Amino acid sequence: MKLNQFIILGLGRFGSSVGKELIELGYEVLGVDRDEEKVQEMSPVLTHALAADATEEEVLRSIGARNFDCGIVAIGDDIQASILAAILLKDLGVKKVVAKAVSELHGRVLERVGVDRVIYPERDMGVRVAHQLVSPNLLDYIEISRQYTIAELAVPDCWAGKSLAEVNPRGRYGCSIVAIHKPKGIIIAPTATDVLAPKDVMVVIGTNEQIEALQESAAQ
Ligand code: ATP
Repeated sequence: MKLNQFIILGLGRFGSSVGKELIELGYEVLGVDRDEEKVQEMSPVLTHALAADATEEEVLRSIGARNFDCGIVAIGDDIQASILAAILLKDLGVKKVVAKAVSELHGRVLERVGVDRVIYPERDMGVRVAHQLVSPNLLDYIEISRQYTIAELAVPDCWAGKSLAEVNPRGRYGCSIVAIHKPKGIIIAPTATDVLAPKDVMVVIGTNEQIEALQESAAQ
């Protein structure tokens, strides 16, 4: 399903950041906040911004919330308001509802009421920062399952100027370099003769242990 129109309930730091980025990406975004100031701040940025209470069913009905492909509940501190807004969006028939949770319990309730995706921004960012702090070469990563990760790694000094055949990540660590970002472009599925340069970024796929082993050995 292609999502085109988004409704964001709550224009705090999280909601407004999601909204701005969706607009940058070329999508239509209606933002709702009960705080008039937040609405004024965001109305030049979003397609529409409206001052209203997102926990009032009549409000959501009158703005046609059910016609949006995706609803984002970006209310944090007021857990009751967040849950009510999420239930209303689901009941109105919004196909995909995403909600921000401020705690594990809040997230569990959101899941129980049928939210399609619960996001824990502080927890997830904390985990990412911790990973990046202990692995200086790690720029970003996606966990594709409990076991497997795709990681973006800076090329360690000792690998600069070497070909993939010389570095031999598959033979030595069991993980594969699936792409190399070079300043001039990206090489997808690089071959044994492709050479790593100091400013390159490697995209590596493997188990968490394999990627850790690669990073540890590269750091020595
Ligand atoms: P952030 O970290 O994103 O800034 P937060 O986790 O501190 O947010 P809040 O400040 O509680 O969360 O909520 C974010 C926004 O949601 C605020 O701008 C607030 O005015 C708005 N909001 C809270 N309750 C409602 C409601 N019932 N209807 C509409 N907007 C609401």
